[in-house]
Amino acid sequence: MTRTILYPGSFDPLTNGHVDILRKSLALADRVIVAIGVQASKTPTFSFDERVEMIETVAREAFGAEAAGRLEVISFQGLVVEAAREHGATALIRGLRDGTDLDYEMQMSGMNQAMVSEVQTVFLPASPGVRHITATLVRQIAKMGGDVSPFVPAEVVRRLAERNA
Ligand code: ADP
Repeated sequence: MTRTILYPGSFDPLTNGHVDILRKSLALADRVIVAIGVQASKTPTFSFDERVEMIETVAREAFGAEAAGRLEVISFQGLVVEAAREHGATALIRGLRDGTDLDYEMQMSGMNQAMVSEVQTVFLPASPGVRHITATLVRQIAKMGGDVSPFVPAEVVRRLAERNA
């Protein structure tokens, strides 16, 4: 049986924290679907297509062709549990950085479980070296001309520099 898990988020942009969770996810499942939430009311820094390109490029470089081939990137609007059900995923992956993440994620997983009982949420702890990283701060630092290379893959450093040139 192929085990599929879904990792939802905005990935705007992909950070080393996301890469850490992706690596762990690929070790847990046969197929990992990265689900990029797109909302009409929000204007992202990077388009959906740009985020897909960044994730695919970084995955090939960081994990190799075999693991990257087990990863798929999709977009979703609306409920994440519906996206999971549609794509045959049995679990949602969420990264935990700290107690603030935990409090919010516990509420969300409880409500998701109540809506779709067959989809489980699996929490993965952030590795110590990346647990301080958030995409929001990466965007702000890049905008102000700061060095984001400790926080994101080289491909993302390059694209942020282009965007803010
Ligand atoms: P962010 O919270 O950085 O804006 P997302 O909304 O794209 O990023 O987050 C998607 C998922 O990735 C969430 O489960 C979030 O907890 C997880 N995540 C984000 N950054 C990290 C990190 N540094 N370490 C572990 N997990 C993370």
